[in-house]
Amino acid sequence: MLSVTFSATLDGAQGSVVRLQAATENALPQICLTGLPNAVIRESRERVRACLVQLGFEVPSRRIVVNLSPASTPKQGSQLDLAMALSCLAAEQKVDCKMLEGFGALGELTLDGNLQPIAFALPLIEALENLPNIHTILLPSGNAAEALLAGASKVRLASHLSEILDFFQNKRDLPRPQNLPPPAGKQNPPPKLFETIVGQSVAKRALQIALAGRHHLLLLGPPGVGKSLLAQSAVELLPDLEPSEMLELMRVYALCPGVQPPSGRPFRCPHHSASAAAILGGGNARIAPGEVSLAHRGVLFLDELPEFKKDVLEGLREPLEGREVFIRRVGQAHRLPADFTLIAAMNPCPCGHALGSSGRCTCSLGQRSQYLKRISGPLADRFDLVVVLSRPRVGMGVASVSDAEAMRRSILRLWKADNHGARPRSFLCETAELNTEDGKWFGEAMEKQQLSMRKARKWLSVARTISALEESTSVTRQHLTEAHAFVANVLPDT
Ligand SMILES: [Zn+2]
Repeated sequence: MLSVTFSATLDGAQGSVVRLQAATENALPQICLTGLPNAVIRESRERVRACLVQLGFEVPSRRIVVNLSPASTPKQGSQLDLAMALSCLAAEQKVDCKMLEGFGALGELTLDGNLQPIAFALPLIEALENLPNIHTILLPSGNAAEALLAGASKVRLASHLSEILDFFQNKRDLPRPQNLPPPAGKQNPPPKLFETIVGQSVAKRALQIALAGRHHLLLLGPPGVGKSLLAQSAVELLPDLEPSEMLELMRVYALCPGVQPPSGRPFRCPHHSASAAAILGGGNARIAPGEVSLAHRGVLFLDELPEFKKDVLEGLREPLEGREVFIRRVGQAHRLPADFTLIAAMNPCPCGHALGSSGRCTCSLGQRSQYLKRISGPLADRFDLVVVLSRPRVGMGVASVSDAEAMRRSILRLWKADNHGARPRSFLCETAELNTEDGKWFGEAMEKQQLSMRKARKWLSVARTISALEESTSVTRQHLTEAHAFVANVLPDT
C-alpha cells in the first residue's frame, strides 16, 4: 500500500515542503528512510515505532520504506515525526490512505504519543499554508501562537496522536487556533531614559532627525557624556510596531530558538568582540540570523565602533546600503531582512579626550589617525549624521516629558507620511525641490567643498527630513544649513 503525506523542513531561512511517501514490502519488519534525512530524522524511526507500539499498533509488521522528497535536498528536524507516523499507519492500512490526501503534518512525538511543540514553526507553517493542494495542517497545540501569527487558516491543533487518530477514524473534530485576546490598551511606555539625559540638545536634535528620516547616526565624544544613554533612549521615541512589521520580526526570531522576541521595536547592542557571523548572520546546516537582522525595524547600537573586527565593519556596508543581508552558502544565498537604524558611538581618539572633553588628550597624531582610519571611508560614508558630544556643564536641564512626547509625535508624523521611504530618486529631481537661489547656493557649496555626489545627496536628504520636521513644504537654505552641521564629516574623507 502506498501512502502520501506532507510535512516541511527548514531550508535556509524559509520552510520547504517535504512529501512523504511510504510503501510496504514483504521483508523483515523495519522502517527504512530515504531522501537525505539528518541524524535527528533517522532517530525518529525509533521514536515513531516505539510510540505506535505503545498505542497498541503492531507497526511495522513488514518492511516500510519512507521516502522524503525532493530526495536530493537535505532534511532536518524532529517535526517530521507526526507525518512519518501517519504514513506508516496508512501504509499498514491502519488509517485509510485516501483520508490522508491533502493533509500536512508537523509535530514531534514522545514515546507515549504526546505531540511536542516544534522549533522554527512559523516558516514551516507558512510553507504548508502556501501549498494549494493542502487543505488541512495538523499542528501541536503548543504552536498555536505561531499559527495565529502566520494567519494560517488551514491549521487544526492536537496535543496527542490519539486525538488525530480519532479525527481520521471516528470523525472527531480538532480545534482551530483561537484568536488571542488583544493586548489590553497597549501603548508605548513614557520615554523614561530620554528624560534623564542632561543637556546635549544638539545630539538630541540629531537623534530626532536620524529617527524621523531613518538616517544612520554616529555619536562622537569622550567617555561618560551619555552616548550610550542617547542610543538606548532611541527605541522609546519610535512609533509602535505595525502588525506586518511584527510578523517580519517574528519570522526572523523564529530562526533563533532560545532568543526571546522583543515586545516592541528591537534594540540590539552587541559587544565589540562579536564575530562577523554573530553580527551579520551565519550558520551551517541552518541559517542563524545575526544582530543586523535581530535589529530589523529597530535600532542597532554599536558602542566603541573602531573596536569592532575589521570584517564586521566591512560587512556592515551591505545591510546599511540595501537594508537586507545575504548569507551565502555553497551555491545559495539566503536573504534576511536587516532594515534598522544604526547608531554608533566612538571616542574621538584612543584615550578619548581629543574633542569636547576637559581632560587633556595624550595620544600622538599618528595614534589618532590610525584610530580613525579603522572606520574605513566607505563605512564612514554610510553615516548620514555625525554629532560631537561634549561634557554637559553644571546647571544644564534634562529633557522634559513634553519634549520627549513632542519628539515622538514628530517622528510618528514623518513615518506615517513616509516621506523618506526607500523610493529611488534621481539627484537632479531632488535638487529641483530647491528654489533657484538656494539651488545655486547649494551647487556653489558643493563645488567649493568638492563634495562627492553621495555626500551631496546625503546632505540634501537630511535637509529634507529637517524640512519635513518643520512641516515646511520645501527645502530652504535654513534646512540645508542645519543639515550641513551634521553632515560635515569630522572623519577622514575618502
Ligand atoms: Zn587622545
